[in-house]
Amino acid sequence: MKLFVIGIGPGHERYLTAEAREALERAEVVAGYPLYLGLIRDLIRGKRQLSTPMRKEEVRCRMALESAAGGSVTALVCSGDAGVYGMAALVYELAPEYPEVEVVIVPGITAALSAAAILGSPLTNDFAVISLSDLLTPWDEIERRLAAVAAAGLVLCLYNPASAKRRSHLKRACDIVLRRRPEDTVCGLVRNAGREGESSRFLSLGELRDAEADMFTTVVIGNASTALIGERMVTPRGYRHD
Ligand code: SAH
Repeated sequence: MKLFVIGIGPGHERYLTAEAREALERAEVVAGYPLYLGLIRDLIRGKRQLSTPMRKEEVRCRMALESAAGGSVTALVCSGDAGVYGMAALVYELAPEYPEVEVVIVPGITAALSAAAILGSPLTNDFAVISLSDLLTPWDEIERRLAAVAAAGLVLCLYNPASAKRRSHLKRACDIVLRRRPEDTVCGLVRNAGREGESSRFLSLGELRDAEADMFTTVVIGNASTALIGERMVTPRGYRHD
C-alpha cells in the first residue's frame, strides 16, 4: 500500500502543488504534527488523522508506515518540502522494516524559496542552507559549515535560527559570518511565510546579530553582490546591462 510523504509548502493551502493535493485526496489516513494538519484542515476533513507531538518523529513515521502496511493509503505531511529537514529520509531509513509499503515523496515549496520570493530575489546565484538546530547536528559542526559557506561567498539561508532553548544561535552564527563579510551586508528575515501573520524585514548583518528570531523565521544573509534594489533584496545573476 502507498505512503505519500508530502511537503505542503509554507502554510496556506494555495501553496500546495497539484500533486500534493491529489495525494491528500487519495489518502484515507493523514499523519503529521498537529500544526501542519491544522494548516490543511479543510482538505483532510473526514479522514482519519494521526497526530504526534514535536520531537516524536520516529513514532510519527512508524505510525504512518504501519497505517500503510495495514492497507490504508496514508499521507505523512511535513511543512515546506519533506526532504528538506523533513521526514522523508527517516521514512526511508525505517521503510525496509515495512517491505509491503511503497513510499512516494511529493515535493513542496521549501521555506528558503517562499522566504526568498517575499524578500525579492536573493537566491538567484549560488546559495547554501544551514539549520542552526543542534538537536541532531553537533554545534561545532554547524559552526564549521557556517565558516565554510561564509568563506565560499555563498548567499546563506538559515533555518531554525532560534528557539526558546537556543536564543544565542543566531548571534553566534552572525559572528562567524562577520569574520568574512562586512557589517552592512544585506540580510532579510521572513516570519510565517505564506501563513497567517506573515511579516518580513531587511536589515544589515550587524543588525541581524542582535535581531530577534524564532522557530517560524527564515533568515537570508546576502553575499558581496547582494543589494537592495528599491524595496527588494536582490542577488544579481550576473547579466550585464547598460
Ligand atoms: N521542511 C521544512 C523545514 C523544516 S525546519 C521546509 O522545507 O521548509 C523548520 C524551519 O523552517 C523553521 O525553523 C524556519 O526556519 C523554517 N520555516 C518553515 N516554515 C516556515 C515559514 N512558513 N516561514 C518562515 N520560515 C519557515
